[in-house]
Amino acid sequence: MRKNIVAGNWKMNCDLAQTQALITDLKKGLVNDVNCELMIAPSHPFLYNAFNSTCDTVIEVVAQNVCEADSGAYTGEISVPMLQSIGIKTVIIGHSERRDTYGETDQLITAKTKAALDKGLRVIFCCGEHLEDRKAGNHFDTVTKQIELGLFDLTAAQMENVVVAYEPVWAIGTGETASPEQAQEMHAHLRSFIETKFGKETANNTSILYGGSVKPANAAEIFAKPDVDGGLVGGASLDGSSFLDIANAF
Ligand code: PGA
Repeated sequence: MRKNIVAGNWKMNCDLAQTQALITDLKKGLVNDVNCELMIAPSHPFLYNAFNSTCDTVIEVVAQNVCEADSGAYTGEISVPMLQSIGIKTVIIGHSERRDTYGETDQLITAKTKAALDKGLRVIFCCGEHLEDRKAGNHFDTVTKQIELGLFDLTAAQMENVVVAYEPVWAIGTGETASPEQAQEMHAHLRSFIETKFGKETANNTSILYGGSVKPANAAEIFAKPDVDGGLVGGASLDGSSFLDIANAF
């Protein structure tokens, strides 16, 4: 059965000292068991340190991005084998900030997803529509297309290593959250779309996270929806107690 996951996407925040301080806060706050998998995604330079500081906890350290190639002339990039050499097992791919600010195309995101899965990393695959798409009533089509292009060439076995994160772009960092009903509607749609390609069992086993201004005040209501299996949390993950409150919403 699918897992509940709360993942903190720290984006380009926290230097080394701040990364360590936030991890210390999380470790102190983790007095009771949480009913979900807990992940944090610090910036690349601090992944190794973060991995070593959390390996005695339930926190999994994950990467925010990865290159589609293994090695070579890719200035500024970081490869799957590099991440694996420091113990990283999961990577976020296709975040809207990568798509919109850095021009990552569906084709590149597909290549990154395949590279990661082929080598045995788990992928948190992000998708989501812009406000114009939603206003025009195209949100289902837009997100369906992202899933089709990014995931439908995978095998069912590879799909078992994919977590989908639905993040409507208009709700990211804006304070505006999709309503629990809007999240449920899209998640149910995506799950049945995944079923058309991979079958019912794989679709049922796929965790689908919601992302976009998740905070302690709204997490429980969103996570209570049957097709919402957790959250990808940006801003609120930069505060240890808020992040744990979100994780404790399960
Ligand atoms: P937010 O970011 O929680 O700050 O809206 C979510 C994300 O971008 O993953």
